[in-house]
Amino acid sequence: MKLHEYQSKDLLAKYGVAVPGGKVAENASEAKAIADEFGGKVVVKAQVLMGGRGKAGGVKLFGDSDSAATFTQELIGKRLVSIQNPDGMVVDKVLVGELVDIAEEYYLSVLLDRAEQKLVVMISKEGGVEIETVAEETPEAIVRLHVDPAWGVDDFEVRDAVQRAKIPAPAQRQMVAMIKGLVQVYLKEDADMIEINPVAWTPDGKLLAADAKVSIDENALYRHPEYNETKDDGAEHEIDAEASKLGIAYVNLGGDIGIMGNGAGLVMCSLDEVNRAGGRPANFLDVGGGANAERVKTCVGLVLMDENVKGLLINIFGGITRCDEVARGLLSAFAEMNVTIPVVARIEGTAAAEGLAILEGSQIVGAKSMQEAAAKVVELAYA
Ligand code: GDP
Ligand code: MN
Repeated sequence: MKLHEYQSKDLLAKYGVAVPGGKVAENASEAKAIADEFGGKVVVKAQVLMGGRGKAGGVKLFGDSDSAATFTQELIGKRLVSIQNPDGMVVDKVLVGELVDIAEEYYLSVLLDRAEQKLVVMISKEGGVEIETVAEETPEAIVRLHVDPAWGVDDFEVRDAVQRAKIPAPAQRQMVAMIKGLVQVYLKEDADMIEINPVAWTPDGKLLAADAKVSIDENALYRHPEYNETKDDGAEHEIDAEASKLGIAYVNLGGDIGIMGNGAGLVMCSLDEVNRAGGRPANFLDVGGGANAERVKTCVGLVLMDENVKGLLINIFGGITRCDEVARGLLSAFAEMNVTIPVVARIEGTAAAEGLAILEGSQIVGAKSMQEAAAKVVELAYA
C-alpha cells in the first residue's frame, strides 16, 4: 500500500533520514499559515498517490505565502492526470514544504530482489528525471547494492557502492547515512518499496530527501493500524475502497458480469472463461475459504454495488468445505437478499452432486463445469 509523500517523510524522519520541513494543508488558510513559518519560501505539492506529479502540474515553488495559498486553493479538488496515471486522481491535501535550494539531484531506492532473496538498494547520480529513462539510456549510471535482510548492511559495502555511483566526495558521508536509514525503515516498518527522487544536494552541503515514496507490504498491514485511513484513498474505485475496509480481495474490472469464487486462481480462470464465452467481467473477487452464508452475503453485496452488473457467476470448489454446505450457504444468503439479476453457480468438488441437488428449483442456476457456467451466465445476462 502506497503512503503519501508527507507520511513517507514523517516515517523517514523517525529513522534519522534528513527531510525538508513541511506540513499538510487542506485549504488555503492552512497553507498560508504553514508557508508563513518558512518565510513564504515553500514548495506546494499535491498529495496524490501517483508518480509524475511535477509534470502533471502538482508541484510548484513559491517565494511568498499568498501565492502558495492561492495555488493550494486551485489545486484542491482538481484532478491531476499523468502518463503513469491516465485516469488521474483528485487532490484533497497538499504538502507545504520548506523550499530547498537544489544544486544536484540524485536517486535512491530500496526494493526487493526476489531472485536474490535480498533487498536491493539502487543508487544513481542521475536523479530528478525518471529512473526508467536512466536505466534505458545510461544503465551504468545505476549502481545496485544487495542487502541480506538477516545481516543488514555493513558501512564499507555502502561506502563502496556510493563511490561506484560516483556521488561527489563531499556528499558521500551523508549519502551513506541516508542509505542506512532507508534500509532500517524498509526492514523495521514492513516496507516493500522506498524511492527517493530526487535526493537533493544543496549548495551549502546538505543532503535531503526532497521527495519520498514509501509503500508498505499489504500482508503486514495488520501490524500497522496507523495506516487504516490511508488504505482507502489509495483505491482507484469506491467499491475497491469498501472491499479493502472489509478485508476482501476485490478488483473492479469495468465489465458487467459479476464474478466471485474461492481462491484467486479459480477466480482468474473464471474471468478467462467469461471472456471466452463473450462476456465482460465486472470484477475479480476472492471469497476466501469457508464460504459461509454471512461471507457470501457480504461478497454478493459488494459485487452488486456495481450498478453495471447484469449477471453473477459464482465459482466454488468444495474441498474441505463440502459442496452441500456451500449450496446451503448460498441459499440462505440469497434468501435474505433481493437479487434480481441471473445467478449461475458452478459447484464442484466434495459432494458436488448433493450441492447441485440442493440448488435445484432455486433462483441460483447450477452448473457442473466452469465453461458451462460461464456460457450460461453470459446467455442469461445478455438475453
Ligand atoms: P514527482 O514529480 O511526483 O516525483 O514529485 P517531486 O517531489 O519529485 O517534485 C518534482 C520536481 O520538483 C523535483 O524533481 C524537483 O526538481 C522539484 N522540486 C520539488 N521540491 C523542490 C524543492 O524544495 N526545491 C526545488 N528547487 N525543487 C523542488
Ligand atoms: Mn519525485
